[in-house]
Amino acid sequence: MADICVASHHTSLAELLADEEFYMLSQRDGFLIELRLDYYSDLTLDNFNVALNVFAPKAIVTYRHPAEDGRRTNVSDSERLSYLQRAAEAGAKYIDIETRTPHADFKKHQSQLILSFHDFEQALDSYELRRRREEMNADAEADIIKIACRSDNIQDTAPLLSLLTDNAALKPLIALAMGESGFWTRVVGPLFGSPLTYARGERAPGTAAGQPTWRELEENYRFHQLKPGWPVYGVIGNPITHSLSPLMHNTALRKMGLDGVYLPFRVEGDPIEFVNTFASALGIKALSVTIPHKETMLKICSEVHELARMIGAVNTILLNSNGAWYGANTDAFAAADALEEVIGSLRGKNVLVLGAGGAAKAVAFGVKVRGAHVFVANRTIEHAVALAAAVGGKMIRYDELDGRPNFAAVINTTSVGMFPDTQQTPLKKEQIPESSIVFDTVYNPLRTKLLKLAQEKGCEVLEGVTMFVRQGACQFELYSGAKAPREAMKQVVLAALKNARLLSEPRALASGRAVKRIAP
Ligand code: NAP
Repeated sequence: MADICVASHHTSLAELLADEEFYMLSQRDGFLIELRLDYYSDLTLDNFNVALNVFAPKAIVTYRHPAEDGRRTNVSDSERLSYLQRAAEAGAKYIDIETRTPHADFKKHQSQLILSFHDFEQALDSYELRRRREEMNADAEADIIKIACRSDNIQDTAPLLSLLTDNAALKPLIALAMGESGFWTRVVGPLFGSPLTYARGERAPGTAAGQPTWRELEENYRFHQLKPGWPVYGVIGNPITHSLSPLMHNTALRKMGLDGVYLPFRVEGDPIEFVNTFASALGIKALSVTIPHKETMLKICSEVHELARMIGAVNTILLNSNGAWYGANTDAFAAADALEEVIGSLRGKNVLVLGAGGAAKAVAFGVKVRGAHVFVANRTIEHAVALAAAVGGKMIRYDELDGRPNFAAVINTTSVGMFPDTQQTPLKKEQIPESSIVFDTVYNPLRTKLLKLAQEKGCEVLEGVTMFVRQGACQFELYSGAKAPREAMKQVVLAALKNARLLSEPRALASGRAVKRIAP
């Protein structure tokens, strides 16, 4: 089992020693604590000894060189090494020393040596990374190699993937890309034999960009269970940080006891280049696709579901048995299913779609193929005209909407009313057609201003989260072949939406221990 090393963010050893979360984690299997000696304002040998008494067997101790993000600039190599030497004598599990720090005389005792290299300034190319790795691998004292470098986009992280996949007969490797694009590198290590990864505490700001909390890694990404050969799934888009898909899909995989991990990939450039570079090396079997890549990803598919072909966009791609990509658009099914569950068959019913963007296309074709008559209203008239023509429906102007009961359902597919502009509404109260079902695809907030106005008018309402969970459940069934645990998926999404800080809320920690006192 690979370990999760929780990096100390504390500014003093006293603060670290008083931190219940770090103490509790140091008592658990599968967790390590990184002591960053360059962070601590009260660092003295006496104080360090107190900390070692508590943490040594579970510690990675490092005293970072100033050129590699070390916060103390006025400290010599020999002084830094003297602290690390003390840590090895006290039985620290790992000592982390940078390649640039001369360490020929260092005595490891029972500790293992992590030989590290960090570049916060730039992404490194494959040639440079391989050269460094070979050099570090040749260091007789090194037990583990750690390479961490900056990434500004997903393609910057590709050379690290080739290092990870080329691990044969070399020392264990921890390869990390800093930055949001490198998030995947912090999770997948165990798939390639890495012994550990780094995480932050739940109250910590994060010691490196893109670093998840230990709880996200343990509970959502099942880090301690990840094994070589597990399939990788994910969502590609930009932005992607706030996507709820990883939470929803990992919950489903866990609930169904299936191997596999679902990751967020922020892809800024060409998504096809991303798939060609990463899919087979990382073991990606299926991807959810979100803004702005839904149209482009259609091109990579050798087989496409008819509805996705009509819409001209996919929100799901998966590898078929021939190793080719199959594309589908589960938004369309999800919207139509959600609506039919409330109003029965759509055949012959008038449905008003607000908006003419990507979601509108999926929704309009989704209800059209169930037999609905589609009307499209949109801010930019030409877009409404084009969509209405494509689905064989009619364009209607916003100012023609007068509240009369002309429509069985109204579906908002514009982003109007979405967080943070929650007081906005695409329709005024008097424009909402009486006795319609009003369905808002916006799901943050759960109950939008439009839905509140519709309720005041006596309309039945349908929240966008229903569609979000359905489209995800449909994706899950496509790539896993298992029935989606829809209720569990819904509950986890609802909880996250109701409390955006769900995963970062610290739980009550009470070890009942006496905190070791040290000199201020
Ligand atoms: P999109 O392609 O950018 O389209 C945005 C649409 O909203 C366009 O029709 C645009 O009109 C209209 N719009 C934007 N700002 C407006 C404003 N201030 N006033 C009036 N109209 C405005 O985006 P999309 O991919 O369709 O996504 C739209 C929404 O659907 C998002 O909020 C997303 O959360 C939601 N969605 C939900 C689900 C779900 O599962 N529940 C799935 C997919 C999408 P113009 O043509 O005039 O620019």
